[in-house]
Amino acid sequence: MNKVQKRVQQLRQQLQQADYAYYVQDNPIMEDEVYDKLYRELQELEQKHPELITLDSPTQRIGGEVAEGFESVKHHIPLYSLENAFDVEQLREWEQRWQNQVGKDETVEYVGELKIDGNALALTYENGILVRGATRGDGETGEDITQNVRTIPTIPLRLHLNEPPARVEVRGEAFLPHQTFEQINQQRRDKGESGFANPRNATSGTLRQFDPKIVAKRKLDFFAYTLYVVDDNSELKPQTQAASLGLLEQMGFKVNPHRQVCQSLQQVEDFFHYWEQQRGSLPYDVDGVVVKINSYQLQQRLGFTQKFPRWAIALKFPAEQAPTQLKAITVNVGRTGAVTPLAHLEPVSLAGTTVQRASLHNQDFIQQLGVKIGDTVVVRKAGEIIPEIVRVLPELRPADAQAFTMPTACPECGSQLVRPEGEAIIRCVNASCPAILRGSLVHWASRDAMDIQGLGEKMVEALVTRQLVHSIADLYHLTVEDLTALEGVGNKLASNLVSAIAQSKQQPWSRVLYGLGIRYVGKVNAETLATKFPTVEQLARASIEDLKVIEGIGEEIARSVYQWFRIEANQTLVQQLQAVGLNFAQKQDTETTETANSLAGKTFVLTGELPNLTRNEAKNLIEQAGGKVTSSVSSKTDYVVVGENPGSKQQKAEQLNIPQINEQQLQEMLQS
Ligand code: NAD
Repeated sequence: MNKVQKRVQQLRQQLQQADYAYYVQDNPIMEDEVYDKLYRELQELEQKHPELITLDSPTQRIGGEVAEGFESVKHHIPLYSLENAFDVEQLREWEQRWQNQVGKDETVEYVGELKIDGNALALTYENGILVRGATRGDGETGEDITQNVRTIPTIPLRLHLNEPPARVEVRGEAFLPHQTFEQINQQRRDKGESGFANPRNATSGTLRQFDPKIVAKRKLDFFAYTLYVVDDNSELKPQTQAASLGLLEQMGFKVNPHRQVCQSLQQVEDFFHYWEQQRGSLPYDVDGVVVKINSYQLQQRLGFTQKFPRWAIALKFPAEQAPTQLKAITVNVGRTGAVTPLAHLEPVSLAGTTVQRASLHNQDFIQQLGVKIGDTVVVRKAGEIIPEIVRVLPELRPADAQAFTMPTACPECGSQLVRPEGEAIIRCVNASCPAILRGSLVHWASRDAMDIQGLGEKMVEALVTRQLVHSIADLYHLTVEDLTALEGVGNKLASNLVSAIAQSKQQPWSRVLYGLGIRYVGKVNAETLATKFPTVEQLARASIEDLKVIEGIGEEIARSVYQWFRIEANQTLVQQLQAVGLNFAQKQDTETTETANSLAGKTFVLTGELPNLTRNEAKNLIEQAGGKVTSSVSSKTDYVVVGENPGSKQQKAEQLNIPQINEQQLQEMLQS
């Protein structure tokens, strides 16, 4: 058996299992979105290799099965399935297809309806009285669940018509609103039973209850969406889907109010996008919109395929999870030296974006997933959330799937990797590992840090490979000539980058702190720390205790900051960056700058150890406030700032009658 045959066989078996669990047991083994994608894969393979189609293939039947237990009944009019479109492009192809068949129609109208995620019901009314309610079953034959259907309050037992037609067939969706679903599951859990997976399964399970009293208690709801009047003598002959929906309402049915007659496909697309955004506000589940051609005459001309009407299509909301193939695993060394395995996936569209990579975090995670290279995995991405692999479909594992183990040596520098105790992550601890340097540079240049335009991953890679940069500080010594020597870098690009790097010296202390990439110090923590410690000297001196009392800074962050400043290479880096002019102190805001000028022209001398400030800090503050600090006392000195154990400068101040102040008085002068 070749690879394609094997895959087709595996998909078929997997989908058959899923069908049984979903339709018969009301207990799905996979998410609908995962099912849909596997189904499409099988469909595509069968299209390419028609010789592989078998009669029992899930693609060859209208979904659903007739479960045992209820009497089966043949539908008066079969219930078809709906063709699915998974994006607006496929919707446009559908329009093209039907136009190819009957010709372009400028006046065509569509009806946009919500696709309620429940269970289809077929209702039969004779002379206005409900005589039968059945499940869809396989489309031809369903289960007779009339007793249960009668308990649904929104299904009229008698049509609100004075002269009802001889027979009326109504199709619609039975469903459970979220709130009712939650209540049912709560009651089941209270009794020690397991909850239903989702409202659709709860609906299906409820409809198949043998005791109508239980069904009545569950408060199912129903939206009607299709009407057939089977009576040649009746005057009720709607000619459009929109008219049918109106008539259903008159007959006493609940029809979903969120429907729209659209004059163009563009309007249909707008309707779809609107509900894509708003569906969360509905009190029940919808999984897309159903688009139907409004005119019955046109519907009749188009007719049906074996499975679907050609005049309708279901446009599904973008999937947030889907199966895809794991093609390879590579390992990535980050700026903290953390070595993480990265999954490379067959590109898959999720929540409106194409996903091709997902982190596998660490060896333990890989083991828990039980994933091998070549596997089909379920990937999830909702909105802005980072994509993740949630599980493996082991039934679809190819024979040549390969297990993966993490390397023991750094893939970048070859040094032995270590796994610190109690951590799941392995690390490269070689401080000069090029991957760590690259990561730190990219982080330093990133938007929330120094925001250096033009210093992206590619440029960083070139700078490190060509050994132009060995540390962050080296960036500030780069010249236009250095850069133009790199491949593909012209004069303009080079000078823009040099000036963007120079510009970054204006960034405030909090961003510099964030840019240093201290573990656990994200943007917010950096701002908190920069406010509490207006200078790097103060922060570097802080003890773990000093740090962890700050709101938002826990033990782990405190330890990380403390340890970072204890490493010599980091101290050197700070000095080098200070030397090139980066901000390692909180800048005065305009208000304090104004008051700062009040120290203008004043000369200070510092002596002794101040309780809170170092010499340097006091000097910076005085200078920022417009004052001057000199090293010896003279008649030109305005103030001597005296700390503990002052030296001869204090005596000199006394001799010359120069005012002496302590640190607190200095602070007051600074703030006055
Ligand atoms: P479908 O659910 O994609 O669409 C057809 C159904 O839409 C109709 O039968 C009807 O019940 C419903 N519907 C809701 N609102 C409607 C409206 N306004 N107008 C017309 N119809 C409306 O197709 P299907 O054949 O019922 O079921 C196939 C789907 O079931 C698959 O796409 C899959 O998502 C799901 N399924 C899941 C599993 C699983 O394991 N999770 C297994 C089998 C099937």
